[in-house]
Amino acid sequence: MTSSSHPRPGTPVGRFAPSPTGPLHIGSLVAAVGSYAMAKRAGGLWLLRMEDLDTPRVVPGMADDILRTLEVLGFSWDGEIVRQSRRSAAYEAALERLLAAGHVYPCGCSRVEIARAATAPHDGEGELAYPNICRDGLPPGKEPRSYRVKVPAEPITFHDLVMGEKSYNLARICGDFVVRRADGLFAYQLAVVVDDADQGVTQVVRGADLLSSTPRQILLQRLLGCDTPAYAHLPLVTGPGGKLSKRDNAVSLAAGRDLVARGGELLLAALRFLGQEPPSFPAGAPGAEVLAWAAASFDVAKVPTQSSPLYDVR
Ligand code: GLU
Repeated sequence: MTSSSHPRPGTPVGRFAPSPTGPLHIGSLVAAVGSYAMAKRAGGLWLLRMEDLDTPRVVPGMADDILRTLEVLGFSWDGEIVRQSRRSAAYEAALERLLAAGHVYPCGCSRVEIARAATAPHDGEGELAYPNICRDGLPPGKEPRSYRVKVPAEPITFHDLVMGEKSYNLARICGDFVVRRADGLFAYQLAVVVDDADQGVTQVVRGADLLSSTPRQILLQRLLGCDTPAYAHLPLVTGPGGKLSKRDNAVSLAAGRDLVARGGELLLAALRFLGQEPPSFPAGAPGAEVLAWAAASFDVAKVPTQSSPLYDVR
């Protein structure tokens, strides 16, 4: 990995990495608050990365909407914003290295073929484990479609600062997983690992929906010779029916939120959701004041592990 843009060694580096597929929502606001507070509490930097890699899902205008929302709420980030859509060369180089080392292979299976051959979903994730059909070479008559990384038979174990000790057997959960998709796009798992390494990220704080992505990312870090950052996966915000609809919970000026007068309250609600006990602030307190409290006082030991509703303010 390149190291020219790395901050001074020893500086903690956190990041927030929204996907501009819609406006910021309550769940991503919680990830923004948690990652910001943990990075700043550690005296570190907080970087912003726009995960606009999955171009078919990117919604025009949303990257700017997210940035404006963060600004109005009082966030400020360190350094330049990294945009994944401009980093294909770095992902390509990582893929080439993995291919040359024999960790990655071309796969000619279609979705339909995989669904037919795959074992039943494991661990309630609803994901099919790829039965590694092309691992030892493309079967006759198949053309390369995607590229997959070979997963080990042994589980990958890590310590999460919120969720504790975690262990995943990738062979059971997903099998050899895709690092470059059949449509030519680089997979999220590869892009995140390359970006976190190139940006010198030392702490990854994000929603627990990405917990099972973490062992995939740790595997890629090991294969590419990158350091593994510290991980903290935050509880998910649930709605009345279990899962929260992103649209109903948009946090955006465009969605009619009064983020100027009520942004502070929203941030306080996010902090309480994360188990913190902020003091009372005067009504209409600016978001930046609430964030300054979080930067000085956030305690990761208080973050709950269970997902729950967030009693929202409008
Ligand atoms: N872009 C991902 C999302 O918005 C987050 C990725 C990450 O934090 O690693 O869900």
